[in-house]
Amino acid sequence: MQGKTFTVTQPTRIHFGVDSINDLAAQVRGLGGTTVFLVVDPGVVAAGLLPRITAPLEAASVPYTVYDKIDPEPGLKLADNGVKLAKKAKCDCVVGVGGGSAMDVAKAVAILLTNGGKAVDYIGLGKIGKPGVPKIMVPTTAGTGAEVTFTAVFINEKTSSKAGMNGDPLYPDAAVLDPALTLSVPSHITAATGIDALTHALEAYVSTQAHPISDMYALEAIDLIAANLGKAYANGDNLEARSAMMMGSLLAGKALATAGVGLVHAMAYPLGGMHQIPHGLANAVLLPYVMAYNLIGAPERFATLAEMFGVDTSAMSLREAGEAVVEAVYRLNDDVGIPKTLADLQIPREDIPEMARIALTVSRPVANNPRKPTLEEVMSIYEEAMHGWE
Ligand code: NAD
Repeated sequence: MQGKTFTVTQPTRIHFGVDSINDLAAQVRGLGGTTVFLVVDPGVVAAGLLPRITAPLEAASVPYTVYDKIDPEPGLKLADNGVKLAKKAKCDCVVGVGGGSAMDVAKAVAILLTNGGKAVDYIGLGKIGKPGVPKIMVPTTAGTGAEVTFTAVFINEKTSSKAGMNGDPLYPDAAVLDPALTLSVPSHITAATGIDALTHALEAYVSTQAHPISDMYALEAIDLIAANLGKAYANGDNLEARSAMMMGSLLAGKALATAGVGLVHAMAYPLGGMHQIPHGLANAVLLPYVMAYNLIGAPERFATLAEMFGVDTSAMSLREAGEAVVEAVYRLNDDVGIPKTLADLQIPREDIPEMARIALTVSRPVANNPRKPTLEEVMSIYEEAMHGWE
């Protein structure tokens, strides 16, 4: 806490519960929206969930236009294309339904509708001048927490790099979290998105920017995810576990929005930009290796995390407790089928120097990390993750 100044911005109205999607029209109207631009993940459409979203709008006679040409890890042009359609249909409210990919496109469209220009103009921090049109996010994965963050992440097609728009106008006005919408998520996506949420909470907890309010969110998120990810993976129909995961990812999103994320995210960016590895999967594979590297930077915090994972630390040194939580996360990854190494993801070893160089340019997560990494250290973490520990 010493010498720390922090800001907690919480503008997003949260509406949570099984079947809460039935209240979507009321949320739209409550924000003054009359005509909806509905950005929908094609996986959600394929899972047969679109009528669950559109029925409440139709029942309340709220007109809508569907935009479902969303790729995972979206490129900037998806936002630019969306704006054209939204303008043509005279939409004054954006609803994003899907994982982080669809929600990020929706967030950017809402901003571009009022600010003009191209999506690329807003990459960076604090470049968005005006609030967007009202935007409501409906997550259908328990992962990114994008429904409560001030970020929208894109791949810049010209540079093949991943980068975010960041700024308070990107905070959604409302989030409708209906855990029943995650029942159709396949087990491998449940795993990767769930470990992604865990990564957000763990990195926020050991962040140099952590503070009592972010800790509260992060620790509750870790508790929920550690206890429920295995259950949701083992039986995707377990609504109790799905609900706990959705709450866990929401709280992890709130933790990251105020305390930031760290080196796992910085090192995951080039895996997405250069090798198209999905964000959650990239984070999940790297997580235990970066935790092991970070242990000496925040030993007390890692010891607390060990307790959250059910480790009896009473007879352990801080070091032993830290190592125990790294092992617990490695085991959880294994339980839910996350590949153990970068070699399993077909990442070529000769790309390590370039990936390390790019990772260190992801400046805010690097600055938040509890241990200040050098280029050589980042390369050696990638090297370790290339081969694994067994
Ligand atoms: P995603 O949105 O790409 O979705 C993953 C897959 O799950 C897709 O194939 C999708 O079709 C499918 N899917 C989603 N919901 C489904 C459902 N209910 N049933 C069946 N299939 C479903 O993945 P994600 O991990 O949620 O989001 C990743 C993106 O979010 C990345 O671009 C990442 O950089 C970004 N991100 C954003 C933030 C933020 O704060 N804005 C935070 C973290 C990550």
